[in-house]
Amino acid sequence: MKKELKTLTKEEHKVIREKGTEQPFSGEYDNFTKAGIYLCKQCSTPLFLSEHKFNSHCGWPSFDDEIESAIKRQPDIDGKRVEILCNSCDAHLGHVFIGEEMTTKNLRHCVNSISMQFVSQKDYQENQPTVDKAYFAGGCFWGVEYLMKQQNGVINVVSGYMGGEIENPAYEQVCSSTSGHLEVVEISYQKNKISFEALAKLFFEIHDPTQSNGQGPDLGEQYTSAVFTSDADEQQTIKKLIQILTVKKYDVVTQIRPLSQFWKAEDYHQDYYTKSGKQPYCHSYQKKF
Ligand SMILES: [Zn+2]
Repeated sequence: MKKELKTLTKEEHKVIREKGTEQPFSGEYDNFTKAGIYLCKQCSTPLFLSEHKFNSHCGWPSFDDEIESAIKRQPDIDGKRVEILCNSCDAHLGHVFIGEEMTTKNLRHCVNSISMQFVSQKDYQENQPTVDKAYFAGGCFWGVEYLMKQQNGVINVVSGYMGGEIENPAYEQVCSSTSGHLEVVEISYQKNKISFEALAKLFFEIHDPTQSNGQGPDLGEQYTSAVFTSDADEQQTIKKLIQILTVKKYDVVTQIRPLSQFWKAEDYHQDYYTKSGKQPYCHSYQKKF
């Protein structure tokens, strides 16, 4: 995922982009011992842990280790020192010195305070976007996958099978209606950007929840309309939406079923419309809420 870059102040720009150096003993984290994580100021990637920090008395925050793969090294333009940069966004951090024997690791990342943002472990975890999964069966998974993928907050959609008897079914088995599986999409979404309810509404609006023998021209059990719910909250949400639709005279046949094993479908079913460049024949959006 591409990281968003923060807009920098003039002072930050001078160090982070123009490779400047802040005055010694002036930075926010020079004399600073709180427990937590030091992030890149520009892209928020974690760079150092407070466990890596030690007092070198040099006037800049010093670390004798780094978070794996977070730091990039390159020869400094002065021809002598080794510059360190954020490995994700190339923000200038400072320099690394080896062999000074200040700590047992024998290494000192000498970093400008202004290139970093400190956060406590707790704040860091609370601000991480939590990813949840939702499972919908709305007819041919090609179309449901295609339309769900366009939603903001949806990270990934996988076409697959759920609700049947046999392990790892093949498409042919699902089509023959002998396996009992439905065509299902697995949606990974960021809860802070889109809710389960918003996804469920969209699900009802991109397929016909009143058709019982299939979906559009696709007839057969595998195209049954269903939501596979993982908890009581999701169940309640679907019941509520069905009630709203019922009031609006939709005779909804969508099943509410408990979550079961999801089997990813064959590769040629994934991203079908994107790969083929066609438009979905089976699904389109129709406002219902
Ligand atoms: Zn960065």
